[in-house]
Amino acid sequence: VTTAGAAGDGSDLRIPIGISAHHVHLCRGHVEKLFGIGHQLTPLKQLDQPGQFACRECVDLMGPRGQVKNVRILGPERRRTQVEISRTEEFALGIDAPIRNSGDLDGSPGLTLVGSSGRVEISEGVICAKRHIHMTPADARHFGVDPGEHVLVKASGQGRELIFGDVVVRVSHDYVLEMHLDTDEANAGELFSDSWGQLVRLAK
Ligand SMILES: [Zn+2]
Repeated sequence: VTTAGAAGDGSDLRIPIGISAHHVHLCRGHVEKLFGIGHQLTPLKQLDQPGQFACRECVDLMGPRGQVKNVRILGPERRRTQVEISRTEEFALGIDAPIRNSGDLDGSPGLTLVGSSGRVEISEGVICAKRHIHMTPADARHFGVDPGEHVLVKASGQGRELIFGDVVVRVSHDYVLEMHLDTDEANAGELFSDSWGQLVRLAK
């Protein structure tokens, strides 16, 4: 295993790490059921990926075993409601959510969302996000990877160095280079929002 790039120290293969806490994407109909007819989500903070933003609105998640309170809504609205939680939260809720790419929701479990003006029971849409790297086509050429490819990324946390496998590469002109991990993954590697990962090249 080597992480050496052209510079020899691997610095040209560095990838910023972004940590995604539990969050919810809502469809228009569910925004209105949870927050009132005609309600528009209120942007609170722009996220690193262009066009994505955290909202002022939060919901409580209720599962068969327990609940997770004050879960942030991320905008803009989507065609289908999607709940992204960590394995730890799956245990708290009593739900076994599959590891999925964003938007791949068929056959996933549901739960109940509670907002300030109402509640919604969804029959599916709860996933544990598959770890991934957002990058532009130019980044993909730089790293020598293809869209949809699975790669290894070494993260050097404080005394908890970890190599993540099954990291899917997602390529779009609209993306900014960033590897997204959930809170369980970040905690396992002692990683924070200013941490970096490094693409690992397997010796052929
Ligand atoms: Zn992401």
